Amino acid sequence: MFCTNCGNENEDGARFCTGCGEVMGESGLRSDGSEPRTESGGTDERAGNDREQMLGVSTSERRELLAGVVNTQVASGYRIESQVDFLVVLVRGNRVNHVLHLLITLFTCGLWGLVWLILVVAGGEKRLKVSVDEWGNINSSRV
Ligand SMILES: [Zn+2]
Repeated sequence: MFCTNCGNENEDGARFCTGCGEVMGESGLRSDGSEPRTESGGTDERAGNDREQMLGVSTSERRELLAGVVNTQVASGYRIESQVDFLVVLVRGNRVNHVLHLLITLFTCGLWGLVWLILVVAGGEKRLKVSVDEWGNINSSRV
């Protein structure tokens, strides 16, 4: 039979793939827990999660943890700038439009320069990087 992970051909009844070490057989057990295809989805997913449990939290739990933190931050004014797997970059505030402020400063003979300065010091964009590691720990840091 063929390995579901790397496609290597193994002896029928082999428990592990000789190519990549993936667990073989057992009604299509998948270690990565990713989309068990057609065959009896429920049990396969459970088996996958149980195996991941030994390494840390499951993929779905990590997603839930991350979603929870992101939702809280979004509720407090952040918006999602980008998301890659278990890493989300959140941003709040607005980028200071320096061209606009320069024009207003010129127009007001330099008076607006003070407002511009305050905006640059106090405002600007704030970024927060939130990630969940394989143990389910949430890490957030300002970037
Ligand atoms: Zn393999």
